[in-house]
Amino acid sequence: MAVVAKVVVDVPTMQTNQPYDYAVPAELVDQVVPGKRVVVNFGNGSRRVMGMVVGLQESADFAGELKTIESVLDKKPVLNQEMLELSRWLADDSYAFWITCIQTMLPSALRTETKMLNKKQTVVDKGRAQMVDFVTPILDQPAYADAQAHVRKNALRQLHLLQALSQGTIPEEGIRVTQLEKQLEIDRTTINKAVQLGWLSLQQREIYRTPYASLDDLERTQPLTLTPQQVQAYDAVTSSIDGKEDKTFLLEGVTGSGKTEVYLQLIAEALKIGRTALMLVPEIGLTPQMVANVKGRFGSKVAVLHSGLGNGEKFDEWRRIARGEAQVVVGARSAAFAPLRNIGVLIMDEEHEASYKQEDSPRYHARDVLLWRAKYHNAPVVLGSATPSLESRARAEKGVYVGLRMPERANNQPMPPVHIVDMREAELDDQSGDFSVDLLDALKKRLERHEQSVLMLNRRGFSSFVMCRECGYVAKCPNCDISLTLHLDTHTLRCHYCGHEEPVPRECPSCHSRKIRYFGTGTEKVEQTLHTLIPKARVLRMDVDTTRRKGAHGRILKTFGNHEADILLGTQMIAKGLDFPDVTLVGVINADTALGLPDFRASERTFQLLTQVSGRAGRADKAGEVFIQTYNPDHYAIQLAKHQDYERFFAYEMHMRHSGGYPPYYFTFRLTVSHEDEDQAAKAAFRLADMLQAKLSKQAVILGPTRGAIARLKRRYYYQIVVKYKREPNLTATLQEMLQTTQKSSRNGFQIAFDREPLSFV
Ligand code: ADP
Ligand code: ZN
Ligand code: ZN
Repeated sequence: MAVVAKVVVDVPTMQTNQPYDYAVPAELVDQVVPGKRVVVNFGNGSRRVMGMVVGLQESADFAGELKTIESVLDKKPVLNQEMLELSRWLADDSYAFWITCIQTMLPSALRTETKMLNKKQTVVDKGRAQMVDFVTPILDQPAYADAQAHVRKNALRQLHLLQALSQGTIPEEGIRVTQLEKQLEIDRTTINKAVQLGWLSLQQREIYRTPYASLDDLERTQPLTLTPQQVQAYDAVTSSIDGKEDKTFLLEGVTGSGKTEVYLQLIAEALKIGRTALMLVPEIGLTPQMVANVKGRFGSKVAVLHSGLGNGEKFDEWRRIARGEAQVVVGARSAAFAPLRNIGVLIMDEEHEASYKQEDSPRYHARDVLLWRAKYHNAPVVLGSATPSLESRARAEKGVYVGLRMPERANNQPMPPVHIVDMREAELDDQSGDFSVDLLDALKKRLERHEQSVLMLNRRGFSSFVMCRECGYVAKCPNCDISLTLHLDTHTLRCHYCGHEEPVPRECPSCHSRKIRYFGTGTEKVEQTLHTLIPKARVLRMDVDTTRRKGAHGRILKTFGNHEADILLGTQMIAKGLDFPDVTLVGVINADTALGLPDFRASERTFQLLTQVSGRAGRADKAGEVFIQTYNPDHYAIQLAKHQDYERFFAYEMHMRHSGGYPPYYFTFRLTVSHEDEDQAAKAAFRLADMLQAKLSKQAVILGPTRGAIARLKRRYYYQIVVKYKREPNLTATLQEMLQTTQKSSRNGFQIAFDREPLSFV
C-alpha cells in the first residue's frame, strides 16, 4: 500500500502555491496525518523545509518519482479538519498563498526555522512548551517508613524527605521540584538522590504561561438583571444559539447601553448547552477592563489572545484552547482563528473598527472569518457597535443580517451634552497652543471639583514635524516619501514606516538658517502646553510611545482609575471601552484631521470616533460634558456626532455613497504594484489596468493607476489601481490570470498585491 501525502510547503511563492505529492515511508505511516507539520526535501538542491500535510491518498497525481517525507514535527495535528478547510478558503478569498494562510492561523511559536546541526540542515520550531521537573512518590507509606529506619541518622535532609513521604504529605499526583525544595527546605541534591534510590520518580511536565492568571482566582461576577432592551437582544440571539442557526445579528447599541453584559450572558448560554464561545474585540479595545469583565464572569475557562502577549503566552493560550481546556476565547483580530471546537456563539464587538482588517497578506477581514466559521458550526454571529459600518448596517436593512437595537443607556444616564467649538474664531497664540478658552475653562473646572478629564488628539494622518521658517524645508525620510516625525523625548526625527531615525537638525540642511520650527500637535507637545497652562494638573499621556512596553497600557489606565492623575491625554486608543466613573469631561483637540484624508470613509471614521469618545463622559451618576474643537463646525459628520444620531448619519452618508458610487453600493478592489524603479512600477501598473479594462464589463469602473499616497516606501515605488464594481463574474478568473502572468515578472523585482474591500486608501 503506497501512501501519498499532499503537502503544502513553506515556500511562499506563486509557483509553489499548491500541494505537492510526497511518499510516506512505512515507518511513518501511523504518524503522517492531515494537519501535522512535516519536514520535506524541496526543490533541486537538498533544501529542507517545513510542510503542512493537507491530505492523504492511495496513489500519486504526480507522474515522476516521489520524494519521501523525512520526519514529522507534531505528535498531534496542529490544524483540525475545520482549520484546514478554513485555510483553503482564506487563500482563495484573499488571493494569498496557502502556506501564508496556514502560518497565519498558527501561533508564532510554531513557525519553524532551519538550523545547521552537525553540518546537516534541521527544521525546528521557534518556540516551545515550558517544561519543568516534577517528582511523584512511587512507594507506599509503610515502605517509606521502612526506608526511614534504614537511613543514616546524620542524613538529616533525607530523613526529613522520607518523613514527609511516609506521612503522605506529598501529593500522589506529584509536585513541582522547586516547590518541594521550598516546602521542605531541602536542596536539589537531596531530591536527585531520592530519585536514584527509587523513592521518587522524576518527570518533565508542561506548565502554562498564563496571562492574567491572577484574575482567575477572583470571585466570579454574577449576571445582572437585564433591562427590557437587553432582554430583547438576548432572547433573539439565544434562540439561535439553542436552535443552532447560523444567523448574523447586528446589535446597534448606543455607548453605555450595556452590550458587554449581553455578550457575557450569550456566552454563558453557549456554555450551558455544552458549546464554546469566541469573542473578538479591536486590538486597542482589548483593555484590561474588558479582560477583567470576561475573566470575572468565566474565570480560567477564558483564554486571551492579543499582540501584547509574549510568544510563549500566546502559544500556551492557543494550546489550552486546542485541548478544550479553555472554552471561551476573547481576543483581537487573529483570535478569529482560535482552535475552538463546537462553537456556539461568535461575537465581534465594535464591528466597525478598521483594525479587524489585516493590511498585510493574507488581507482578510475578521468578520468574514467569523461568518465562515458560524456556518461551519451552525452558530449565530453577533456584530455589535454604537456606530456600525455602513456595509453592515446596509445588510441589516436588506434583511441579510437581523437588526437589533438598544437605543438607551443601561443606567438611564442621559447622553452628555456635546459642545462644538469653532476654532476659526478661537484666538490662539503661542501660549494657548491648541486650547480654546472654552475647553481650557472646562478643564480647570474639573480640577477644582476633583473630577477627571479625557483629552483626545486625533493623530490619524497627522504628526509633528520639523520645518525651516526661512526656506520651507521639511525633513523627509531618505527611504520613504513622507515627512519624519519629531520625538521630543529622544530629540530625534523618526520615520513611522521604516524606522529610520536621525537627530533633529540644528540648522536647515538646505539653506543653513537656524530658524528651525517644530510644527504640529503631537501628544508630547500638547502635554507640555498643558503643563504651562494648568501647572497643577497631573497629566497622563497614552500614545504609541508610552504604550510600547508590555503592560504599559494597563498600568496607565490603572493609575488613572486610581485617580492618581487628573487628565488622560491620548490618541485614538483612549476612545474605546474605557469606563471610569469620575470622568466628567471629554475634550477632542482636533476633530478635523481625519476629515481631510483622501478617503471616502473619512466622514464615517470621524463620526465613529467622535461618537465613541463622547460616550466616555458621564457614564456613572455624575453628569458629563464633551467639547469638540473643529475648523469645520458645520460638517454633517461633526453635527450628527454632536447629537449621537447614528440613524441620520447612516441615511445621509448612504446618500453620499450612492452619488459617489462607493461601497456599500459598489464593491471595491485594489491592486498595488511596486518596484524599486519608479518607471518600471508605473509601466507595469498601466499594463495591468489595460488588462482589467479588456476583461471586465462596461459597468466596472477602473480608477488609476495612481501613485500611492505614500509613493515611496522602504525604497520601493508604489502604484495602485482601484476597481469599483457591482457584479463581475469574471473578476476572480481575471485576477488569477494576472497573478499567473506577473509571476514571471516577480523575478524581476516586481511585487503585486490584491486587496478585496480595502479599508484604507492612503
Ligand atoms: P456599552 O458596551 O454598550 O458601551 P457597557 O457594557 O460598558 O456599555 O455598559 C455601560 C454600563 O452599564 C456599565 O457600567 C455596565 O456595568 C452597566 N450595565 C449594563 N447592563 C446593566 C444592567 N442590566 N443593569 C445595570 N447596569 C448595567
Ligand atoms: Zn522611512
Ligand atoms: Zn532652510
